[in-house]
Amino acid sequence: MAVRRPLIALIAAALLFGPASAAVAAPPDPAERGPAAASPRGQSDTEMPFGVGPGQRGRSADAPGRKPSQPAATAKLPGKPRNDVIVDVPVELTDASIPLNLIPYHDIPAALRNLQRSNRISVEVIGQSVLGRDLHLVVATAPMSDAQWKTWQQLSDLRINDPHAAQAKLAAGAYANWRTPLFVNNNIHGNEWEGTDASLQILQDLAFSTDPAIVDMLNKHVFAFVVTNNPDGRVAATRANANGFDMNRDYITASQPEVRAVRAQLVRYSPLTMLDIHGYVNCTLIEPTTGPHGDNYEYDLYIKHALRNALSMERAVLATGEDRASCVNSDGTRRNDIPFRDRTQGWDDWPPIFTPMYAMYHGAIGHTIEVPLNPRGNLTVAERHERTRINTAVAAATIRGNFEYATQNREELLANQLEWFRRGVDGEPTRPIDDPLAISLARGDNIKTHLQDFARAYVIPAGKDQRSATAAARLVQFMLDNDLEVQRASRPFKLGGTHYEAGTYVVDMRQAKRGLASTLLGVGRDVTNDFNAMYDISAWSHGHLWGATVQQVDGNVKLDDKALRPVTETHATGSVPPGKQSHYGLVVDSVAGIQAVNKLLNDGVRLSRTTDGTFVVPGDVSVVRQVAEAYGVEFIRMTPPQVRNTTGVSKTRLGVAANGGEIFALQQMGFQPISVTHTAFNNGILSFADFDAFFVSTTAFNPLSLNATQAAAFNQWLADGGTIVGRGSSGKQFNDRAGLLDVTIAAGRSDANGIVKVVNDPASPITANALPTAFVDAPQYFTRVGDGVRVDQRLAAEGFFLAGHWGGQEAAAGHAVVVSGVAKGANVTLFGTEPLFRAHPEGLYPQVAAALWW
Ligand SMILES: [Zn+2]
Repeated sequence: MAVRRPLIALIAAALLFGPASAAVAAPPDPAERGPAAASPRGQSDTEMPFGVGPGQRGRSADAPGRKPSQPAATAKLPGKPRNDVIVDVPVELTDASIPLNLIPYHDIPAALRNLQRSNRISVEVIGQSVLGRDLHLVVATAPMSDAQWKTWQQLSDLRINDPHAAQAKLAAGAYANWRTPLFVNNNIHGNEWEGTDASLQILQDLAFSTDPAIVDMLNKHVFAFVVTNNPDGRVAATRANANGFDMNRDYITASQPEVRAVRAQLVRYSPLTMLDIHGYVNCTLIEPTTGPHGDNYEYDLYIKHALRNALSMERAVLATGEDRASCVNSDGTRRNDIPFRDRTQGWDDWPPIFTPMYAMYHGAIGHTIEVPLNPRGNLTVAERHERTRINTAVAAATIRGNFEYATQNREELLANQLEWFRRGVDGEPTRPIDDPLAISLARGDNIKTHLQDFARAYVIPAGKDQRSATAAARLVQFMLDNDLEVQRASRPFKLGGTHYEAGTYVVDMRQAKRGLASTLLGVGRDVTNDFNAMYDISAWSHGHLWGATVQQVDGNVKLDDKALRPVTETHATGSVPPGKQSHYGLVVDSVAGIQAVNKLLNDGVRLSRTTDGTFVVPGDVSVVRQVAEAYGVEFIRMTPPQVRNTTGVSKTRLGVAANGGEIFALQQMGFQPISVTHTAFNNGILSFADFDAFFVSTTAFNPLSLNATQAAAFNQWLADGGTIVGRGSSGKQFNDRAGLLDVTIAAGRSDANGIVKVVNDPASPITANALPTAFVDAPQYFTRVGDGVRVDQRLAAEGFFLAGHWGGQEAAAGHAVVVSGVAKGANVTLFGTEPLFRAHPEGLYPQVAAALWW
């Protein structure tokens, strides 16, 4: 289908991004080199590939550290980028990009190598996908000398380390020539391809164009492009990565390697703007979003530029003349879909699980872009190619519109970001939206924000008397990986009238990125009555769901600077009681504890358990010491009476009918889950004799669909003391079909989710040591439990809903959410909560492990 392109659009496009064929690379200058010389913030040794060396900021425990296997011989030549690490990959004829007329993953290395002929371009490998494919970051800017890069890095760091000083320098003109970082992420959903192709087109211009407008941009910005955030999904045409994760729901959890790789780059650059390019939404969707807006953003600062940047991108999309990329207003003019302006609800920025929302916590004006035309499904070849052509043109237009806006408003954007960070270090509350344009264009309640007065500090006890020391260390390292500042007490100290042990962590909320600290550590808020519809989840909290004790300190209290030292890295050291012991005990209250037990079991160590659930390890100190060190767990002394009545424990052979996130979480714990279906049992592929326990949360394993022989085998397996753990409505359905626990269940709204306050049975082997909070999604609760069914955990009777969105929550108050009992000889536990949700609530994992081990 031929599309008429207005002449004005062609002129505009040619002006800014002329054809690459007419362009030449700038002549090499012996004193200059490509942007790969940029070091992560605070890292002064530019000889190190990114992520390998030390640095005060931007360091990550799992930052990409792979050294280039074969640095090209030209890498050290003047004018050439340093990190020439592009590795060719085998051709895959089944790459889903090919029939779409888009670039297959195996052609990306050659395309990048071609770009790298320009001394404006540097390509880095920032990590690997689950299946081991390289993740490429391409950085474009006009060449700079080592000294220029050093200055660039110092001014970059100063924004976060001392925003007041940076503001003063900005006023004095010191940032006049500082190149502002702009970030584009692509293809995080593997089957939304075109951002990658558009970025490669834009990069062609950035690499080779001599157009004065582009040369000007290259002197004003450092452009960073993630070519594809999900190469495995790109090849396989899947939204998720190879672990089955929707990574645009994982940024605040960072369970996936592709997410951690890009997170490290957002930390490294703290970009001024950030685009995350998706598909496919009719009219082309360009954020900012509807409400509710996240409480921890400086939303008034964000919206001023987000809205104008969106309008700039919309103009650029309309200028393509692609009518299929926009919608028609009643007056005949055309528009894109800007949710803040055009929708009343349901496309919100509330959870920072999304890439651009997460980037906002690093000071970026973040936008999701949705290109318009779905090229999947049953289309003619011509139509499919036409759609991907238009989508690519639209994605390129949004990138151009973004870059033009950032070029025209460079100083204002930087001043805005410094003000964002300054409010953090000064501990100021957030402010209402005051921008007249935003006020005039906002639809419905999108103009509203909930004003946030931040905590003064968070305290994370981790002294030697704390059982959750491993969870505390895990949380603190996570915060460091997220570019947050944490301190640790070198001696006992007092804060807000409370005494704390040496070793306690303190998060001073007067820091540039305090919004991120607040969203990680705070519980959040109940937004049920703010908006009817939410786009995705409405609650998350590392402070309340990861197992560490986190205490909030409010008010204008003074922190004891003499007792507190900055933490640069941390890990729980673990411990073993001194002297010769006949047995060691291990109380499992963290993911690390579960991993330690599974490691011992997988290694064939004979374990047993006491009646209160403590694991007992025979007295081989070398084995115990190794595990204590590797997992940071604390072994305790066991007296002879304590080990008298123990039960032997063997490795759990686990079958699962569960979603990808749950299987991943079980693997994280060190289990080796095998997916099961009734069909596989019926076909003789699987045998009940090979399993000790089943975790069931989908309908893939239906006991009523077993044939007569397998049904008998299943009943025998139950009678022999098998273990069943069911989760959610499908787990309950399995329970009913198998005729197990006598319970009646009620369901909350399917879109309800949040953090709930719970009451645990202190005598339960599953929840005796559980957290006082849990996570629910499409919540299930038990309105009646029959004889012999134990209530392990129930919702608090009053005020149980701490944060999230759950219409009709009142009906669930006080009801059971975890129940267990022996049925037909089997140990059965049913969870109405969601303890493994997207691998986020790690602090709830021990309940599942306990149920599987029961
Ligand atoms: Zn998407």
